[in-house]
Amino acid sequence: MGEFELIRHYFAAAACARVGGDVVLGIGDDCALLSVPTGEQLTVSTDTLVAGVHFPDPCDPYSLGQRALAISTSDLAGMGASPIGFTLALTIPSVDSNWLAEFARGLDCMAAGCGMRLIGGDTTRGPLSMTLTVFGRVPQGEALLRSGAQPGDLLCVGGALGDAAGALPIVLGEREANGVEAAALLRRYWSPQPQLSLGQALRGKATAALDISDGLMADCAHIAKASSVSLVIEQGRVPLSDSLLQFAGAEQALQCALAGGDDYLLAFTLPSHWSTALQAEGWAIHVIGHATEGEGVRLVDAGGHTVSVGQRGYNHFKS
Ligand code: ADP
Ligand code: MG
Repeated sequence: MGEFELIRHYFAAAACARVGGDVVLGIGDDCALLSVPTGEQLTVSTDTLVAGVHFPDPCDPYSLGQRALAISTSDLAGMGASPIGFTLALTIPSVDSNWLAEFARGLDCMAAGCGMRLIGGDTTRGPLSMTLTVFGRVPQGEALLRSGAQPGDLLCVGGALGDAAGALPIVLGEREANGVEAAALLRRYWSPQPQLSLGQALRGKATAALDISDGLMADCAHIAKASSVSLVIEQGRVPLSDSLLQFAGAEQALQCALAGGDDYLLAFTLPSHWSTALQAEGWAIHVIGHATEGEGVRLVDAGGHTVSVGQRGYNHFKS
């Protein structure tokens, strides 16, 4: 099978490659054409995943397709953007039709859930890796930035943290996947659900936001720095799932939530009246702390005393 036949068969023919919405022209020409409504801004983000670095090799291609699109799309959620579409630059060692079909099926499934369309890409031969670039849109001036948190704002997250980090020993083959807890954690690792609706609901309310990819402490440090505030996290208010508590135990569960990464849930700051209003609307947001004058991120116990965290998050270039 040649390059063009491969693209046509597995990608151009996928349901998520159909044009519509803001996608005027999709796969097949030199460029895709997007129309951004007047008064809105285009949001763009790109992510590369390398086999053996960002995912185990080999792994289930269907799950990989889901995860690749989910983690890229999560950046749109972190900006409060509405999804438009994505490009896929795929490097594969050989043409394995079963692998490609399953990978495309995983992409398609996540794209349907997120309202994303495949608008183009590139296909090359080499060690397995992929770069996804996602496009979204947001009303002029309403994107949720990392800067903007104010002293007195509450610090919130969009759900229970640490599940994906809890699944990592299973993903890496270091621990058996026994029971319903393991299955729940694995789902959170392989098919995280980008919080697009929550991000959009936070427009005009959150003062700062991002999606947590490298661990709560590390990512909150980005908000603290960009906003020139200090963020205080109350240890006892960090939401943990029953699955994680069962599977990892209380101490390890908290460590996964604070420093584990791969959550792809939103962390954001906002004035307290907005958190009350959002919770009244039914948004499952969890207040975990607040912003104050100063710098950095501080974890405190019930008595307000600073607690130290072993490792603060994942960093590719840190020795
Ligand atoms: P060009 O050489 O002009 O860059 P290509 O031959 O790389 O074009 O790609 C032909 C068309 O197929 C383009 O529209 C491109 O966006 C699309 N395409 C290539 N690879 C992929 C892929 N993996 N997924 C989706 N679309 C792809
Ligand atoms: Mg090309």
